[in-house]
Amino acid sequence: MARTIDVVSLYPKDMNIYGDSGNVLTIRRRLELYGYEPVVHQYNQGDDWPDQVDLILGGGGQDTGQKKIIDDFYHRADLLRSLAADGTPMLMICGLYQLFGEYFETVDGTRLDGIGVIGAYTVGQNVRMIGNLVEHSDQFGDVIGYENHSGQTFLREGVQPLGTVNQDGRGNNGEDHTEGARVHNVIGTYMHGSLLPKNPAISDFLIETAVTRRYGTFDTSDQTPEQAKELARLDQVATNARKAAA
Ligand code: GLN
Repeated sequence: MARTIDVVSLYPKDMNIYGDSGNVLTIRRRLELYGYEPVVHQYNQGDDWPDQVDLILGGGGQDTGQKKIIDDFYHRADLLRSLAADGTPMLMICGLYQLFGEYFETVDGTRLDGIGVIGAYTVGQNVRMIGNLVEHSDQFGDVIGYENHSGQTFLREGVQPLGTVNQDGRGNNGEDHTEGARVHNVIGTYMHGSLLPKNPAISDFLIETAVTRRYGTFDTSDQTPEQAKELARLDQVATNARKAAA
């Protein structure tokens, strides 16, 4: 029997824009192609928290979506903080990236406290940062995606960004050329697009970390030759997209 990996999709009803659900599909598919059995738990407000959690994926959302989930999010804050500190791999895009920080002050002046996993704070502005984006990450190489946010995020001293952007006026805040953040095994980023189909290195980091934490090693001995071939095809599609974007 294939070994299972439990993936939580965090607030997919309200925090899922610009293709972020593609991240869940990509993790599900790549896990299968590596010979594992993904179990995806859709977690929305008021749901029971799953007993087993190996990987968490969260998407972006409008300011209104962030306000809708916030009470439930606070209810789960201790749990999410301890899972993060314990090394659970997580990918948080845009709206949830902001809420994994210390606070988000929206453009209308509402302050939403974050859960403080990431040492960063976000302040809304009237100008939105919109467009395709390429960043360079020491860990993952070139990362390609699409950003669309009004919040400007500033990392606290010593917090590692996910990468750096060349373009002016883009990334975390349009000022310091940083994009995203890396803390424990948590990745926070503004990159939608979807991110993971185009950036297999990040998908594989999340998958390998999740599998290794649960089973001790990442082994692909259950993978069939057909699965290996399909994985290589998906990687080629991603490579083509990355060449076109760079
Ligand atoms: N509402 C947030 C902002 O505009 C996040 C948007 C998003 O998730 N794309 O800054």
